[in-house]
Amino acid sequence: MTSTKPDVMISEAQIAQRVDELAAEISHDYADKGSLVLVGVLKGSFIFLADLSRRLTIPRTIEFIAVSSYGSGSRHSGAVRLVMDVRGNIEGRHVLIVEDIVDTGHTLKYLVGMMKSHRPASVRSCALLHKADRAEVEVDLDYIGFSIPDEWVVGYGLDYAERDRTLPYIGIVHPDDRK
Ligand code: 5GP
Repeated sequence: MTSTKPDVMISEAQIAQRVDELAAEISHDYADKGSLVLVGVLKGSFIFLADLSRRLTIPRTIEFIAVSSYGSGSRHSGAVRLVMDVRGNIEGRHVLIVEDIVDTGHTLKYLVGMMKSHRPASVRSCALLHKADRAEVEVDLDYIGFSIPDEWVVGYGLDYAERDRTLPYIGIVHPDDRK
């Protein structure tokens, strides 16, 4: 555990309100498309996925995928590696990738390619957070919770070296606190 509590960037109430809005938008967009497969990207998206999926009003199933693109710290390591693929058959289904945060875009670009290789009916993506200033590759992000500045954030599923994942809000870890 960090010794000091991270400063609040986005409060619990703000997150709840935005997740409600996203769920309403997604439910509306997929209303006439039948069932949706939500593909959560482990580990960071698990709390967002849990809240978002429970607020949808359309039929949906859940899958998980795991990739690693960073070490235990905050620096990008370059390549994205698949750690765990989806288990269910998603061929012909409408897929929505649910990410915690899109930073450089490398991970999402890789994930969209991975999902397309399963021949789904469609692939869209949703991220709770987006660091727009950090984009290195172009990705189509269909649903964005919040655009944020270039800070290392934790909480609501996101960690810093496995710490602070279960904070109820999005907090900022300042460089001095990254020990
Ligand atoms: P990208 O490939 O877009 O650069 O990185 C996406 C991944 O980087 C996210 O799924 C997340 O694991 C990690 N990441 C990027 N920025 C942050 C951040 O501020 N906090 C945390 N906890 N993870 C981040």
